[in-house]
Amino acid sequence: MNKDTKIIELKNISKSFGGEPVLQNLSLEIHDKEFITLLGPSGCGKTTTLRIIGGFETPDEGDVCFMGEKINELPPYKRNVNTVFQRYALFPHLTVFENIAFGLRVAKMKEARIVKVVQRMIELVNLRGFEKRKIDTLSGGQQQRVAIARALVNNPRVLLLDEPLAALDLKLRKDMQKELKNIQRETGITFIYVTHDQEEALTMSDTIVVMANGKIQQIGSSTDIYNEPENAFVADFIGEANIINGTMVEDEKVRLLGVELDCVDKGFGKNTPVDVVIRPEDIEVVDPSQAKLVGVVEDVIFKGVHFEMSVRCHNCEWLIHSTVAQKVGEEIGMQIDPFNIHIMNKMFLAENNTIITEVYYSDKENNTTTFLLEGSEVTIPGVFYEEGTKIRIDLPPDALYIAGDGNGQLDEVYIESVIWKGEHNEIILESDERKWIMQSDIDEQVATYISLGFDFSKATVSEVA
Ligand code: ATP
Repeated sequence: MNKDTKIIELKNISKSFGGEPVLQNLSLEIHDKEFITLLGPSGCGKTTTLRIIGGFETPDEGDVCFMGEKINELPPYKRNVNTVFQRYALFPHLTVFENIAFGLRVAKMKEARIVKVVQRMIELVNLRGFEKRKIDTLSGGQQQRVAIARALVNNPRVLLLDEPLAALDLKLRKDMQKELKNIQRETGITFIYVTHDQEEALTMSDTIVVMANGKIQQIGSSTDIYNEPENAFVADFIGEANIINGTMVEDEKVRLLGVELDCVDKGFGKNTPVDVVIRPEDIEVVDPSQAKLVGVVEDVIFKGVHFEMSVRCHNCEWLIHSTVAQKVGEEIGMQIDPFNIHIMNKMFLAENNTIITEVYYSDKENNTTTFLLEGSEVTIPGVFYEEGTKIRIDLPPDALYIAGDGNGQLDEVYIESVIWKGEHNEIILESDERKWIMQSDIDEQVATYISLGFDFSKATVSEVA
């Protein structure tokens, strides 16, 4: 068996709970001996994916295959897969040895063999000398090792680990990350690991699957995902990044904050709105006379290895990591190698905020026009069109706002992503029938529901011929 062998395949998996889609048409291949990590913010569907692989949930649509065979209907205990949960579910009254031996005893393995196998596991998870200890006398980290040994003792082809280190403190978590990686290498068991901690994912994984809102955003090695993020969400979620709105003028030329810079990307077309991603360590501080982008240092923090500087350039806040500290208030030039300017397609375009509809009702005296939006009446003040007229409403992202009092025009609108764009947050929202893009200075909480308001004084309303 080698790493090219597909051990598990998820094919077009969809899953909803109570009508809410949690996984949407998700496809994934997992290879033998791979350490693969599902990474994403809380609620993005990682655990559900893991539970589908383990057989604890069934997909509404799509197939789960093990070594090429469909196993959708196979119960968990018949799958060659074991799970380590966040809560260890150990037997508190049994010793370390007996906890690990439990599955082998159930399988009626001979005593001499049990002793041998359990001892090997105890060595593997570094618990020698703890064999006779009761579980409730162990630390969290030691209990987690017992849980891992107990899952490994059955020699599964695949081990599923759902945030197994979440309850441990930082130091212990880091030690356990290394140990888990070593255990995986030594045993050659395929590990499917779930975490929302990007550093943990980058440290341990052969392959990272970045997820958001029930969809895969990118699959790749740690370096692929860090160096070549496929969209602004991935760039924002993995490491730190300056993400700025830009325009691809033509191949290898991008305009941002009013200046044109050389880059290496092609194929975006001419004058196309894009997201420009620049990592803080890729900005070289030079004399202002030598750079197209010039900013003023607003804040400097020493981070041990580098200085983290906040620099204001054209109303935009930039993050720079540099080994040389500049003074607050100083003007600096920011130079970026074309190779380090990453261009990506926008996840959602402002033009998509357009509403095309018919006037439902209008009031000449009060100069208002009312239309129906997802079943609710919405009134535009200061605009009059006859009933039945077809109109187009263009809402720029700053015409949308979160109605804190709950009195917005659309309720139960889901916050899908929030990305800081140097000047403001760019927020993608989903209502019953469509998506919206909003600009906000407030750091809104992803995966929550809000009431969405429209400020029609910022909108353009016109008649559609
Ligand atoms: P976390 O890191 O917080 O565990 P996650 O990415 O693992 O998040 P899931 O546990 O897969 O996310 O949950 C995805 C969404 O599905 C969440 O909104 C969750 O509330 C919902 N969900 C999960 N299981 C169920 C269930 N059995 N019934 C109803 N909703 C569920």
